[in-house]
Amino acid sequence: MAAAIVVGGVVGLLGGPSAPEVDDPVSAARWFDASFVGLAREYQVPRDVVAVVAVALRGGFALALAMSPPGRRVVGWIAARAGQRPWLTAVVVAGGAFLLIDVLLSPLAFWSGFVHAGDYGLRTQGVGGWLLDWVAFRAPTWVGAAVVAGLAYAVATRFPRGWPPLVAAGGAALLVGLVVAGPLVLEPLAYDTRPLEPGPARQAVQDVAAAGGVDVHKVLIADASKRTTRENAYISGLGATRRVVLFDTLVQARQPNTIRAVVAHELAHHQHRDILRGSLAAAAAVVVGVYALAAWLGARTRRGRQRAVSDPGAVGLVVGAVMLVSVLATPIEAAASRGMEAAADWRALQLLEEPGAFEQLQVQLARSNLNRPAPPVWRHVWWGTHPSPLERLAMAQRWRAMAGSPPAGPPRRAFVDEPKAACDTASPGHAPARRPARSAGA
Ligand SMILES: [Zn+2]
Repeated sequence: MAAAIVVGGVVGLLGGPSAPEVDDPVSAARWFDASFVGLAREYQVPRDVVAVVAVALRGGFALALAMSPPGRRVVGWIAARAGQRPWLTAVVVAGGAFLLIDVLLSPLAFWSGFVHAGDYGLRTQGVGGWLLDWVAFRAPTWVGAAVVAGLAYAVATRFPRGWPPLVAAGGAALLVGLVVAGPLVLEPLAYDTRPLEPGPARQAVQDVAAAGGVDVHKVLIADASKRTTRENAYISGLGATRRVVLFDTLVQARQPNTIRAVVAHELAHHQHRDILRGSLAAAAAVVVGVYALAAWLGARTRRGRQRAVSDPGAVGLVVGAVMLVSVLATPIEAAASRGMEAAADWRALQLLEEPGAFEQLQVQLARSNLNRPAPPVWRHVWWGTHPSPLERLAMAQRWRAMAGSPPAGPPRRAFVDEPKAACDTASPGHAPARRPARSAGA
């Protein structure tokens, strides 16, 4: 079964729909005026610096927990108090480590998400709301780490030989369960949602759904404007919990053709089964991770470096290693996400047959989020979950060429809306609780 999950995850990810290669670059000057490009750079560069510092601190914290003498002393002290209960040591160390690193990084998150975003007029909430959000977005990670580590150690203690398949299957099942239940359990922490009322926006949704032959279960509006001016949309859930969620900032500010473009992108994710494929790939990663951990801990036990696979004294090593791997996996996750997003863009262009609306959407998303048209390569490789704005505009240009549709699109400075920005809960220094969702693009 473990092998089947891994094969399913890999095949689902690599064998999925893809976008054509786009090698004809688009000039930023054609779509964005120089003052916007300068403003976006001015906003983003300090955030990049803060995000790099946050990654370094997180990685350093993981290494210190796993390997440094003080890290080992603290874990030993906790293990001594937990007595013969490795699961309790695991709960305290895992929950505590994820809580502590978030608290240590919170000044950076506050600066990036509150102070800096506010300086650029991108935040609509006060400090109390921001703090509540911080707790609501981060707490699921603290609780989740404690519960998962406690359960895994309880199983490994009870079944010292047979634990890997049990923990791998449990982890994979938990992950898929979270994707299904996320819209009901995690998303209410972030937004209040309401059904999209009849009107031009809902008509736009129905038009795209009819064009694509897609059944839209549920289209909701989220009250994103309570914290941000950022515009976005996403699809989440599986089966009965599947939904398309539009930010109210987007619906209020945009014309129906732009909303059609957003919805086309989200329906493309649905048609490509991206949530399912992404969940399977993540489940495969969990299975591989558990077996790798089992092999490593087994070897350490055989060499006498720890008393048993569930030795409480080695909990710090395990939690630190998991933390470090999750930091280092960021660019792999980003690359997988970019592939899915590019394929969804391409499908959206086919569904929509309105490349102009698609291009307008990309320009508006970049402006409302103060995104650089072409971010630096290192940043794009590490954190870029979506193709850059210029890559997406190049995709539309490619579609025009293939469809025999006239090139061009609107001239430069066609969009007059002033750049706004957002409460920056999505900055790498302050990531929201990982929600299994595919988004339109910010
Ligand atoms: Zn998307």
